[in-house]
Amino acid sequence: MLNMTATLIDGKALAAAILERVHLQWNELCSPRLRLVSLLVGDDPASMVYIRNQRRACDRMGIRFDLEHHPASMSEDALVGRIQELNVDASVTGILLQRPLPPHFRQLRVHSKIHPDKDVEGLNPANIGSIVYGVPKLVPCTALAAIRCLLSTGRNLRGADVVMIGHSEIVGKPIAFLMLNYFATATICHIATQDLTAKTRSADVVFTAVGSPGLLTGSMLKRGAIVIDIGIRQVPALDEKGRPQTDETGKPRYRLQGDADFPTVSRVAAYLTPVPGGVGPVTVSMLMHNTVIAARLQRGLPVGSAVEFPRADD
Ligand code: NAD
Repeated sequence: MLNMTATLIDGKALAAAILERVHLQWNELCSPRLRLVSLLVGDDPASMVYIRNQRRACDRMGIRFDLEHHPASMSEDALVGRIQELNVDASVTGILLQRPLPPHFRQLRVHSKIHPDKDVEGLNPANIGSIVYGVPKLVPCTALAAIRCLLSTGRNLRGADVVMIGHSEIVGKPIAFLMLNYFATATICHIATQDLTAKTRSADVVFTAVGSPGLLTGSMLKRGAIVIDIGIRQVPALDEKGRPQTDETGKPRYRLQGDADFPTVSRVAAYLTPVPGGVGPVTVSMLMHNTVIAARLQRGLPVGSAVEFPRADD
């Protein structure tokens, strides 16, 4: 029996509440049906899982979802040309680009071709730049979701020490910059960070986005810290005797695991996002949120903010 003290942050419940609010905001737009176009180049199996979840959320919200599947041999110029057509197609609210792209694509060049107001994944350099300037519009969905999970704890972030493990463009860097907007003190750690434990032990909040199961243990935390676990890795499922589980056809079973070592972290942290069921479901709801923001930007309507920042003089 686990001696658990952490409150688990229920991502599914948070996502349901976000979707309800997004639905109301969308109704207020009184508009033709919103539409997302997802561009998939090649056949990456992980992309198929994301696409299924995105389509399911769109179906639930009444948003049209069109998947365009292109061969891995597609040229970068042909993809850019297609993006430019979608940019000027008034029936398209948002453009999604499934990652990873095949190796011959320059990801940054392709992202920068998506119109910033149709960039529902928040990956265009202009949208990333708006975060740095403290006026975010379309923010990467995972970063938004992780911060939503943190805000659900009610923790006052002014002056809080926040450690972000992972420095990717779509997760680690945007989260760290958004934390500065709350007047938290943000430290970004990565593969070359020396003495990670010294950093995490002094943190009030730890975000982790590495994809390394068990990287963050309870002994690396201050008692009462908040842990937002973004990492996802498929690991073999084991039975109670530690033997690999198989399905009825004899194929190995897998389960998802985060970066946090659940048994030890849950004994020290005050709050923890479980994997699965934490940040993941909130991420998809944030895509729906961004779709409504994109529709408002395209109509010149005020967008409000995905995450409410305190004023500088608060
Ligand atoms: P990435 O794979 O681009 O980079 C990984 C980061 O981890 C890098 O900054 C690297 O320096 C750092 N790192 C690697 N080993 C480390 C170590 N031992 N100590 C400290 N830092 C280390 O990152 P990403 O694309 O942001 O993805 C990270 C994880 O988040 C993956 O598991 C991915 O599946 C998951 N993810 C989850 C969602 C979601 O919706 N929950 C969305 C996107 C990514």
